[in-house]
Amino acid sequence: MNQKRDYYEVLGVDRNASEQELKSAYRRLALQYHPDRNPDNKEEATERFKEITEAYGVLADPQKRAAYDRYGHAGVSGSGGFSPDFSSTIFSDFEDIFGDLFGFGGVFGRHRRSRAQRGDDLRYDLEISFEEAANGLETKIKIPRWETCTDCGGRGGKRGTAPVTCNTCGGRGQIRHQQGFFTLTQTCPRCHGMGQVLREKCPACGGEGRVREERVLSIKIPPGVEDGMRLRVSGEGEAGVQGGPPGDLYVVLRVREHPFFERRGSDLYCTVPISITQAALGTELKIPTLRGHERLRIPEGTQPGSVFRLRGMGLPRVDGHGQGDLYVNVQVVVPTHLSREQRRLLEALSSTIRVENKPVARRGSENVKNGFG
Ligand SMILES: [Zn+2]
Ligand SMILES: [Zn+2]
Repeated sequence: MNQKRDYYEVLGVDRNASEQELKSAYRRLALQYHPDRNPDNKEEATERFKEITEAYGVLADPQKRAAYDRYGHAGVSGSGGFSPDFSSTIFSDFEDIFGDLFGFGGVFGRHRRSRAQRGDDLRYDLEISFEEAANGLETKIKIPRWETCTDCGGRGGKRGTAPVTCNTCGGRGQIRHQQGFFTLTQTCPRCHGMGQVLREKCPACGGEGRVREERVLSIKIPPGVEDGMRLRVSGEGEAGVQGGPPGDLYVVLRVREHPFFERRGSDLYCTVPISITQAALGTELKIPTLRGHERLRIPEGTQPGSVFRLRGMGLPRVDGHGQGDLYVNVQVVVPTHLSREQRRLLEALSSTIRVENKPVARRGSENVKNGFG
């Protein structure tokens, strides 16, 4: 038995077996070769059980499976070869697979479940204006959540009473039954695996250790945040059960659109119309920014579609490093309803301005100018 068998062969599946197929093959074989079920042939069954567990441990992990597919056993055996350490994925698979059949805790050393459980994470959707996203804000939010019961300090027992050892399981949290030739281990139905029971429940929380309350929290949103960003407020989720740690609060930001600024990262974009005479003669524009106004000089001879950059007039970068820019796209508006006088002036002008109406190569990308000066 020096030559290692192919993992797919061990599990009796083909090389493109799905996760589900792997799992059911493993489940079937593991039940067949479980040492507890083969008392007359324990040694050989244990060998087979290790072999299929090793194969499943590799193939159930997509990364290890890919390495195995490319390099065979050499791709997955570390320096000391595979050690069935029951990593978290495979451990939870065990629970999945066997949870309903045997309490598998005995085999893998999972004894008493802790009383404490971490509280759930909470999500809060917060809608803010474009300016608030740009400048940051401090605001109060109200969240209904579970709070640790102050009467019992989260332990769930009536004040002054201590929990007692569960006498159904003797504090082990599990009950073993001898059934035919193997042992069935079950979570204790009285204490639900905790090994202890409350003598008297706390009247304020009914033994839960936590109560439902509405909590007002002050939160700080940094400047530069974007729509869809999530802020984690550590420890502000639901209270834990029976004194466990609290979950986290996630504030999901919804940023309302701006009437004329469009945002790309920390840069802002807007379009400003100018007349043909402003484009030809040059002008100075007053451009609104998120902090007030900025003067922008439009030089004479500005072409339609020209883009001017106002440095540092965009949004602050959310990492706190610098500031984006504001890009102003000028749109030259050609007049449509000319008065008699305007028409006369333009006709007079027309005879003095000549453009060669010959096709030219397509112009390159928009030409960005710096708007300071
Ligand atoms: Zn018990
Ligand atoms: Zn209580």
